[in-house]
Amino acid sequence: MSDHPASREGLSRDDVLYWLRETDEARLEELWRAADDTRRLWVGDQVHLRGLVELSNYCVRGCTYCGIRAGNRGIERYRLPAGVVLECARKALEFGYGTLVMQSGEDYGIETEWLADVVHRVKEQTGLAITLSLGERPRADLAAWRSAGADRYLLRFETSDDALYRHIHPDLPGQVSDRLADLRTLQELGYEAGTGIMVGIPGQTYATIADDIELFRGFDMDMIGIGPYLPHPATPLGEEFARRAAAGDWVADQTLNDELTTCKVIALTRLARPDANLPATTALSLVNKSAGRAHGLQRGANVVMPNLTPVRERTKYEIYPEKATVYESAEAINAGIVALLDTLGRTVGVGAGGRRR
Ligand code: SAM
Repeated sequence: MSDHPASREGLSRDDVLYWLRETDEARLEELWRAADDTRRLWVGDQVHLRGLVELSNYCVRGCTYCGIRAGNRGIERYRLPAGVVLECARKALEFGYGTLVMQSGEDYGIETEWLADVVHRVKEQTGLAITLSLGERPRADLAAWRSAGADRYLLRFETSDDALYRHIHPDLPGQVSDRLADLRTLQELGYEAGTGIMVGIPGQTYATIADDIELFRGFDMDMIGIGPYLPHPATPLGEEFARRAAAGDWVADQTLNDELTTCKVIALTRLARPDANLPATTALSLVNKSAGRAHGLQRGANVVMPNLTPVRERTKYEIYPEKATVYESAEAINAGIVALLDTLGRTVGVGAGGRRR
């Protein structure tokens, strides 16, 4: 038995660092078991399915990691019409999902009133819970969408290391990006607020991730999305990643963007925030195509976000290369997830699947 039992109440920062560095598979079983037991005890065996619609790939931002950043001239841009979004919402209802997630680049072409109307119509026609994830929009927009019926908002702070954040997420002119302040605003407006990080960003250390997990705890976040950083070749960070990999030029204690490290972060987050909703992310399913999603669900996760975006637009929402299941229909993605849950002895979540307090 290690000095850092994963089942102990209130994992310390030292415990977190210990587990992030642990490589012994037999000992890691202890972490996986503790995370899975905690997940079962606090949020049960239901896996909530949130249908994802990628509204638009226009973006004003220059995030150095992201394939749909404004500076990428190599992709064709799109915005879904309201009718298509409503069709996706009806499909979510037909598949038995409890939530529709609308995500996009930070696109001010998505006008406040237009989205408020779409939110209102989706709510009226389907009764689904609505999650938005549209970047750092002004408080007035967030308030309008909340009044129109939006329930939740996702905004990852990406990393708690301020210098690294500034490196990967440049400010817009005359406007300092402060996603922690934005998360507080969302909580004030009555949204269930979700956040998250990428694992394995060049320059990110294990100590940074221990700090990220402390922040999840301190912020009492309802949802926490954790996925590996997947280098996109047409981005500055993707180029930096390739250069560093070729030269072996990493910071001391550099984190890895692999399945094992991502699963450790999910498991430790489950222990730190037992009642949060944690997705087994698409990015995780891509680093291990045969078992990544299953491992996420067996090591702390309780949510999956099946993609409902029409295939033609989905292929253009390439935040990282080869997004998993890009060419599969929504029906095929749904069937695959339902079959997976069956083999794991888990059930499809019933109802909106908000945070149980
Ligand atoms: N524009 C909104 C925002 O920034 O929150 C929502 C869309 S953004 C594409 C959603 C998330 O995708 C980001 O928070 C980031 O963590 C993740 N992401 C973007 N590029 C990625 C990459 N290359 N590898 C892994 N995750 C990535």
